Amino acid sequence: MLASLATQPPPKGDVCVENGVGSGGLLTAGRRLGRVYDGAVQDLIDELGRLPGVGPKSAQRIAFHLLAADADDVRRLADALTEVKARVRFCELCGNVAESERCRVCADPRRGDEVICVVEEPKDVVAIERTREFRGRYHVLGGAINPIDNVGPDDLRIKELLARLADGRVTEVILATDPNVEGEATATYLARLIGPMGLTVTRLASGLPVGGDLEYADEVTLGRAFEGRRVVGR
Ligand SMILES: [Zn+2]
Repeated sequence: MLASLATQPPPKGDVCVENGVGSGGLLTAGRRLGRVYDGAVQDLIDELGRLPGVGPKSAQRIAFHLLAADADDVRRLADALTEVKARVRFCELCGNVAESERCRVCADPRRGDEVICVVEEPKDVVAIERTREFRGRYHVLGGAINPIDNVGPDDLRIKELLARLADGRVTEVILATDPNVEGEATATYLARLIGPMGLTVTRLASGLPVGGDLEYADEVTLGRAFEGRRVVGR
């Protein structure tokens, strides 16, 4: 899968989802939109426009919403942004978001150490926790193998995962990477790596939308996928 991915041409850089066209009138209008304002308003629009999923029009809409909003509301948003950078870090064990050295899941003595569920991002931990199907531990990779974006196995927290598996307490690894090309490539890579260690390696069952994100799956679908996970890599 990786080899075939590497031979695909890179996506065209001029595709802009929000403007709906790759080039021409609308995109030009979007860029012109970006030059209309001066000073602080433009700075805010520029910063908002750098966020994932926010295009120039959305950035402008949010900026003017904030300008019209109550000063206390805006201050709470600013405080939340500052606080999250000051207080939240990543769990030293699993890579999940944490407010101390260990995250809530790793610090919970009631959870089992025998099963580790491997996910791409901290938001996937939240999605799986919502199902209440899983009482083991997590390992957050920090992304997925993606040759087009130059993300290889060394860029993910795979070494840390192997270190956690070395002490023999873990008996099953659940590969819960996203059901898309990158997630599947990552799961296949990990299954080949972990399978020979004598552990049971499982992958979430189908039923999850292909090409989708775990975080957008509803609890029932994700819960069923969890129950129906299958052994891979043996
Ligand atoms: Zn943790």
